[in-house]
Amino acid sequence: MDHDCLFCRIVAGEIPATIVHETETTLAFRDIDPKAAVHVLVIPKEHYADVVALAGDPAASADLLAAASSVAEGEGLTGDGFRVLFNTGRFAGQEVFHVHAHVLGGEPLGPMLALR
Ligand code: 5GP
Ligand code: ZN
Repeated sequence: MDHDCLFCRIVAGEIPATIVHETETTLAFRDIDPKAAVHVLVIPKEHYADVVALAGDPAASADLLAAASSVAEGEGLTGDGFRVLFNTGRFAGQEVFHVHAHVLGGEPLGPMLALR
């Protein structure tokens, strides 16, 4: 674990979070500043900086995708639809460098990007 990493510290239980789903390899918790009615962050328990690093571990990638899907089901999002996104790097405004899937839904989400 990386003690300087916010999400590693959430995995370690050092920082509280509202956990909605957990597996042996993944953790999902509510975003502290939700951008939609439902906004859950899904992370691998192991530290990968971003989706490019995660992609180097196919098993961990599959686990994360399955967990994101389970969260969407658990939050009742699959009927009306939802969005899963990975901000990656500077242009995307990634703030936390422990890879996380944003699962967003619970209301119409508007255009895919604010710029267009
Ligand atoms: P990023 O911009 O890196 O894709 O997303 C980081 C997300 O983490 C943001 O949506 C932000 O609100 C969320 N976040 C930042 N600090 C915390 C925290 O301490 N707890 C939780 N639950 N979410 C956080
Ligand atoms: Zn980390």
